[in-house]
Amino acid sequence: MGMRGSPTGEIFFDSIKLGKEMVVGKPGQGKNIMLSGLNSERVILSFIFVGLSRRALELALKYSTERKQSGKFLHEFQLIEEKLAYMYTRYQTSKLLAEKSLDNLDRDPYDSLVPAAAIMHASETSEYIAREAIQILGGIGYVKDSEVERLLRDAILGQIGAGTTEIRKHLIASALVKKYKREDKIPNL
Ligand SMILES: Cc1cc2nc3c(=O)[nH]c(=O)nc-3n(C[C@H](O)[C@H](O)[C@H](O)COP(=O)(O)OP(=O)(O)OC[C@H]3O[C@@H](n4cnc5c(N)ncnc54)[C@H](O)[C@@H]3O)c2cc1C
Repeated sequence: MGMRGSPTGEIFFDSIKLGKEMVVGKPGQGKNIMLSGLNSERVILSFIFVGLSRRALELALKYSTERKQSGKFLHEFQLIEEKLAYMYTRYQTSKLLAEKSLDNLDRDPYDSLVPAAAIMHASETSEYIAREAIQILGGIGYVKDSEVERLLRDAILGQIGAGTTEIRKHLIASALVKKYKREDKIPNL
């Protein structure tokens, strides 16, 4: 559907025999080893979706200053102004949270709270901003020639890769409860 610069396909491990020297870590720990990389993946992906939001906002802003309807530029209509205002504000909040998640990762690579919140917010925001950008461009935003059409398709993967939005919600809530029980206050605000 999107992210075509990152091709995806099936791999098969039929009839493969590996020697003991090929084991990574210790037997039985595979899932934990795999999961330990997910926090950094969430932080990196947050920035990818912040970048996607920024590009969609740029394209919408540019078009709103070029396209005229009823003798006015699009950005002069209050309903378009409202869209631009929300798009900018949500872009900035997702960027700030992504930066905070990077800082958190440095301090505690095993803490999922902020990375999960950052990727959840950045991916939901990018889908919202790409969708609004298409609306601002109107018909030309919907067709294959337009970059915003691709941005929306790319944005949708953000809620699936590196743990889905549903799993992120579980991670955020359970980390909050755990920290609250330990520290008896809302953590790190
Ligand atoms: C093109 C592409 C590239 C990808 N690249 C990456 C990558 O680089 N790194 C990466 O980590 N992932 C990546 N993914 C995502 C990964 O492959 C899985 O798709 C993802 O982890 C979800 O697993 P699943 O598809 O088996 O869905 P399922 O686990 O079957 O989930 C299906 C639905 O059920 C919900 N669900 C499942 N369990 C629960 C639960 N306990 N509580 C509530 N709801 C639940 C899910 O949120 C989802 O909505 C990529 C996916 C695609 C399509």
